[in-house]
Amino acid sequence: MSFSSETKAELCRIPVSRDCCAMAEAYGLLLFAHTFSHTEICMVTGSAPLAHRIPPLFARAFGVTVRLPEPGAGGRYVLKVTEPAALARIFSALGYDLKYHLTYHLNRNVIEEDCCRAAFLRGIFLAAGTVAGPDKKTHLELTTSHHALCREVMSLMLDMELSPRQAMRKSTSLLYWKDSGGVEDFLTLIGAQHAALEMMQAKVEKQVRNRINRRVNCEAANVIKASNAAAEQIAAIRRALDRGGWEVFPDNLHETIRLRLEDPTASLAELAARLDPPISKPGLSHRMRRIVTIARSAAEEEPK
Ligand SMILES: [Zn+2]
Repeated sequence: MSFSSETKAELCRIPVSRDCCAMAEAYGLLLFAHTFSHTEICMVTGSAPLAHRIPPLFARAFGVTVRLPEPGAGGRYVLKVTEPAALARIFSALGYDLKYHLTYHLNRNVIEEDCCRAAFLRGIFLAAGTVAGPDKKTHLELTTSHHALCREVMSLMLDMELSPRQAMRKSTSLLYWKDSGGVEDFLTLIGAQHAALEMMQAKVEKQVRNRINRRVNCEAANVIKASNAAAEQIAAIRRALDRGGWEVFPDNLHETIRLRLEDPTASLAELAARLDPPISKPGLSHRMRRIVTIARSAAEEEPK
């Protein structure tokens, strides 16, 4: 199941607690439906939970019966209202005049309360929304072929302090968000808390993963650098010993050289602690440079 379908299924589990919100949600569905005219209402959806939600929602909101059909090809449900008396009830409840046939504009009187506005946007998302999953690039969009309606919904959203962006795709108008904050806010507002939480978790996990990768890479680079340095020291010492023996080095450096040769992978800090008496790491680093310089000149190498 896609993340959009999961989100719609989650929204369809929200109980409709108030009559005002039932009407607001149905209004959002109608405005973004396939057809909303004075002769026919037609809602098309591939979401089974939504198809099952519509009949009780319309009964509650308008006292109108909508028949739940069998799903057609590809699991698509087509729900229709064509009976004139039912259409008249819906139009009058939403404050529309059947004579003027103008349906695709926003009657804000229906959605004055905050609770109703959230339900209205839920209806729009159910009818015309898609959202990309947490594993994909952040994107939530609502589409309609009615440009004036798109602008009116945009201005409602701005009043609600949501800030979608508006665009055209061929003859379709869209409202969309590409920022995870905007998508999470919208999903939370319309009641898809679980979907919003999944997006937030995915974002946090990604940040943590990136931080760990950066640290691991950095530590690995340091280890490689240190072991390359140790390998060079050891190679220079061995060449000097081969050529001139231990006399090449002053007595006070012999213990350090022996420790280095015995344990090629030990860090400078580890070697420094093993010396008797122990010395500081910078002290040992200085001593190692001296050893390498002596070793190189003994092996008739130019110091680097
Ligand atoms: Zn309400």
